[in-house]
Amino acid sequence: MKSPLTISVGKIKETGNLTVDETVPESEFPDCLGNAGRLTGPLRVELDLFVKDGKIGVQGEVRGEWEMECGRCLAPVRTGYIAPVDSVLESSGSAVDAAEEVRQALVLAIPSKIVCRPDCKGLCPSCKNDRNKGDCGCKTGYN
Ligand SMILES: [Zn+2]
Ligand SMILES: [Zn+2]
Repeated sequence: MKSPLTISVGKIKETGNLTVDETVPESEFPDCLGNAGRLTGPLRVELDLFVKDGKIGVQGEVRGEWEMECGRCLAPVRTGYIAPVDSVLESSGSAVDAAEEVRQALVLAIPSKIVCRPDCKGLCPSCKNDRNKGDCGCKTGYN
């Protein structure tokens, strides 16, 4: 299957510049977030491709929605993301595939810390009770 992000080099060189504005189903990027989370909707990919020193420059952004675990209570957190793309591709063949750039942009955009809400109380370290749902009564030294 041909990826919608496979772009003809000839087309880019014809005008020196090509704009891609595609909505790509998340199934094109299975497991791209690893253990960090999963994509929950299509990716809006907006890229400018241009000739640069005989190579193909790619700049733009990817937007969409993903779901990750709250770092404190492990509840799923669904948020929007914007992943910037800024890269240079080898143009040895007749086409370039921007899918790998999109994948890397997503990985780089994964936040190091995500919480379901700023005052999430997290799980009790001794009984793993979700302390947002009530006090478990453990003496943890946190309360
Ligand atoms: Zn939480
Ligand atoms: Zn507890």
